[in-house]
Amino acid sequence: MTQLKVKTLKNYVDGEWIHSKSDISEKVVNPATGEVLAHVPISSQEDVDHAVAIAAEAFQTWKDVPVPKRARVLFKYQQLLVEHWDELAEIITIENGKSFKEAHGEVQRGIENVEFATGAPSLMMGEQLPTIANGLESGVNYYPIGVIGGITPFNFPMMVPCWMFPMAIVTGNTFVLKPSERTPLLANRLAELLEEAGLPKGVFNIVHGAHDVVNGLLDHKTVSAISFVGSQPVAEYVYKRGTDNLKRVQALAGAKNHSIVLNDANLDNATTQILNAAFGSAGERCMAASVVAVEESIADQFMEQLVQKTNDITIGNGLDEDVFLGPVIRDQHKERTLKYIETGEKEGAHLVRDGRNDKDAQREGYFVGPTIFDNVTTEMKIWQDEIFAPVLSIARVKNLDDAIDLTNKSRFANGACIFTNDGGSVRQFRETIDAGMLGVNIGVPAPMAFFPFSGWKDSFYGDLHANGKDGLSFYTRKKVMTTRWV
Ligand code: NAD
Repeated sequence: MTQLKVKTLKNYVDGEWIHSKSDISEKVVNPATGEVLAHVPISSQEDVDHAVAIAAEAFQTWKDVPVPKRARVLFKYQQLLVEHWDELAEIITIENGKSFKEAHGEVQRGIENVEFATGAPSLMMGEQLPTIANGLESGVNYYPIGVIGGITPFNFPMMVPCWMFPMAIVTGNTFVLKPSERTPLLANRLAELLEEAGLPKGVFNIVHGAHDVVNGLLDHKTVSAISFVGSQPVAEYVYKRGTDNLKRVQALAGAKNHSIVLNDANLDNATTQILNAAFGSAGERCMAASVVAVEESIADQFMEQLVQKTNDITIGNGLDEDVFLGPVIRDQHKERTLKYIETGEKEGAHLVRDGRNDKDAQREGYFVGPTIFDNVTTEMKIWQDEIFAPVLSIARVKNLDDAIDLTNKSRFANGACIFTNDGGSVRQFRETIDAGMLGVNIGVPAPMAFFPFSGWKDSFYGDLHANGKDGLSFYTRKKVMTTRWV
């Protein structure tokens, strides 16, 4: 493992580590300490053109490699990821700030995607109907689509790229990844291990950078499809520009996930789950709990338990044992979060727990203590916007109908959860809530690799989601052949 010691990161193209043509770079910083870990090149259009040309050339041979042989590379890759599990988790904690335990869990999620993709020989099987009319038969087969561009966010440097490239390459495509410029280190390690697993040169490439690389991929005629995960405004922009250029685009966007707590819920479970979902990974999860709609009759009891448990959270460097809450990603993000806390106060929400006062948050690095607002309403910015930090809003509601109304007013619709023991309430929730990923008595209903990551409304732009059979369909096209034997 060498990448962490490298001063300026290199791009990975055609199986080689090469310098970007650009001389612009940005610092990669450990958010828990402020230490500069490396510099990431802000690559240019020229770098994109080179990587795409290589990926297009590699596609000509990779697409014809038998599917079981392509899958075998991923079997080997899975083994290597398991062997390097701790090391990968450590890189994630160092560049992202989340606790080592959470980073470990993220590596697991990445590995699960690789495991799902190894099933390609079964998943890619075609279908045949031997008699569509007398002497006539018809069948469908699946083929790769070409060069795929992947653009990823800072918050899951392993899991999110693994939503994309394992399925894309096992189905016969080649791939150009643009990792987040704020957490680019892990991607390079993923590439080193892919090489060790025996992936041929040019099938997987990395071009580090920011907007220019994204635009370069979106405008490039040779790129067939774009998988994007990131914030809502950028997702919308990527979807519009990519589809305008006649590409397939799936763009997974921001969120404001609501949890509903009914008066028959197990409060101990609800408060523990919601605390983990709101403050785990410093609230920097697209499936984080951001708003709790709690029934008035149990709201005081719920708040008391939640605040009590939150007070026990350990804040610090994610590499230290027992730390639960690490830093947010950058100083600017901390400042933005503190502004939202001020806004919440001005808007009249009741600041029940003020994370600005946490002693352990006053350390070097970009820490914000867990913050809880009560009596939040839909007119408030803190209810409307994705804050993406350890700030939780509580809204008191009369009943389930009101909780569902409140949830469905959000422009975002990634996930929603309900805490109850009543089957009828669960059914009403499932049938009437406008969100694509639902949880019952759990805090983070993130689907596993074999199900689609199915955000709705402004949390997703496109038709086919990431993961599951949707992922397979996104990265393949169909040929239907009708045959008459004469
Ligand atoms: P971001 O939108 O700032 O960046 C995502 C990617 O887009 C990065 O690679 C970045 O370099 C690029 N980018 C940023 N601004 C751009 C611009 N103006 N033009 C072109 N490219 C641009 O997102 P982030 O802060 O890295 O990640 C956090 C966001 O991602 C949150 O909103 C979170 O909800 C979302 N997210 C969503 C999901 C999901 O499944 N829906 C999963 C993870 C994260």
